[in-house]
Amino acid sequence: MNIWVSTRNAHKAEEIGLILAPCRIKTLLDIPDFPDIDENGSSYRENAELKARALFDRVHEPVFADDSGLEVDALGGRPGIHSARFSGNDTNHARNIDKLLHDLEDVSRAERTARFRCVIVYIDAAGKAHEFVGTLDGYIGCERRGQGGFGYDPVFMLPDRDCAVAELPAAEKNSLSHRARALAQLKAFLKL
Ligand code: IMP
Repeated sequence: MNIWVSTRNAHKAEEIGLILAPCRIKTLLDIPDFPDIDENGSSYRENAELKARALFDRVHEPVFADDSGLEVDALGGRPGIHSARFSGNDTNHARNIDKLLHDLEDVSRAERTARFRCVIVYIDAAGKAHEFVGTLDGYIGCERRGQGGFGYDPVFMLPDRDCAVAELPAAEKNSLSHRARALAQLKAFLKL
């Protein structure tokens, strides 16, 4: 079975492919002329649905999209839906982490709690949208650790393991991540 995923992020597609195996993942990378999607929603749900709907309107087959972000309690839930652009419009993961560590410089360990949240919107063959949510709780460390994953993984600490997500083997991250948890619900819904 093929499933369309509305993303151009090859790393994310790989994570999703491992979790939804043996399904074959098709993505926007399979449609070279697909235009950029304006993610101008005001919530994860709105952004995920915008992305899923744009692809559904093109392929007319079941598709899904996810939108995720990091919510830091000491920052009032920021960066949230702005996680990818936390340090500016034309930025990268390294600079986002630098800004996060800087903003939390005077914040104690107990107040550095945070979570990743992932919202998936799946659009079925009839065009109806279904929502699935997954979260991963942790805290923001004071320095980078590990080489794996992407985004904020080097500073996102798992309290019960005392390690950063970037220190986990890919298979382990894929068993506990916010995206894995939302995908597990989608998997059950699709009876895969
Ligand atoms: P997206 O909506 O999945 O593209 O995620 C938006 C941003 O949230 C990413 O650019 C990252 O900064 C952050 N993010 C989402 N998922 C993860 C993750 O699994 N690890 C680290 N950062 C993530």
